Amino acid sequence: MWSEFPAQKQVAELLYRSLKHNRLSHAYLFSGPKGAGKKKVAKHFAKAIFCLKQNGDSCGICKNCRLIEERNHFDVHWIEPERNIIRIKQVEDLQKKFSYRAAESSHKVYIMDEADKMNQEATNRMLKFLEEPPQGVVAILLTSRIQDILPTILSRCQIITFAAPSPEIIAKELEQAGVKPGLARAAAQIANDVEEARRLCETESFAQLRSLVIQLSEDILERGTYALVTIHDKFLKQEKATDKIDLFLDLFLLWFRDLLFFSLGKESQITNKDQMEPIQKQALRMSQRRLVDGMGTILVTKNRLTHYANLQLSLEDMVLRLQEG
Ligand SMILES: [Zn+2]
Repeated sequence: MWSEFPAQKQVAELLYRSLKHNRLSHAYLFSGPKGAGKKKVAKHFAKAIFCLKQNGDSCGICKNCRLIEERNHFDVHWIEPERNIIRIKQVEDLQKKFSYRAAESSHKVYIMDEADKMNQEATNRMLKFLEEPPQGVVAILLTSRIQDILPTILSRCQIITFAAPSPEIIAKELEQAGVKPGLARAAAQIANDVEEARRLCETESFAQLRSLVIQLSEDILERGTYALVTIHDKFLKQEKATDKIDLFLDLFLLWFRDLLFFSLGKESQITNKDQMEPIQKQALRMSQRRLVDGMGTILVTKNRLTHYANLQLSLEDMVLRLQEG
């Protein structure tokens, strides 16, 4: 059902209406970040076109819906990059296959994933195919890099823009892939898309940096200037500390935000839900004012470092300011 795509409600409605009112385009280009659900929506759209119920949606259980799910429907063709390239042969195979009359209905649909990966020959052939679309053929091209698609191709397609997935949706996908919920939520807050979030979780230092953030915050509250030793020994001495500083400060900011949410009684909005004990303990020791100021201090540090300020001095300055409260 189209209602399976709450994150892409507008897209789902648009496609549903075009089908319901029999106003299908010859070609669609789904554009949006990785993880936005373009492929899932494309498959659902194909099902809806062929579904035996013919009500603008996919029932999911009829013969056509099932064949498309298994990628066995004769009139639905998939093209995906092979070794990172879509070649002319793949476009030719498609044309050959679609030159026969439609087997089971008046439509034929092809879905090209990562259309930006077409090489030049494939692009030229594709362009011709889009210029003279055979009767009943619907093209669905997918891309997360619309800037890499030739304007001549774009001008032949109805462009459908997918919104970036929300942190909740990213976190859910990561959890389904086996990432611990606390880390998944933190990565989802920091990254812009599922791929980036997944990469974050795969870096060894991600979990370690989050633990360090919790410890540093604790030391700032409990152990006075010892927090300076913590930042030295546990962060600055690390290999490639400069490469990790952005992530470290993002996690630190997220931590302070969680403390503030706890303090405001908005526990449902807390990201590091698996760390409720230290959150509660630390939040009770800081006023809301101090938490807000603390977030400001972390942001200022982040900003300074993007302007190439000295890493060690900036972090020491940050720790001391956070301590003053
Ligand atoms: Zn069906």
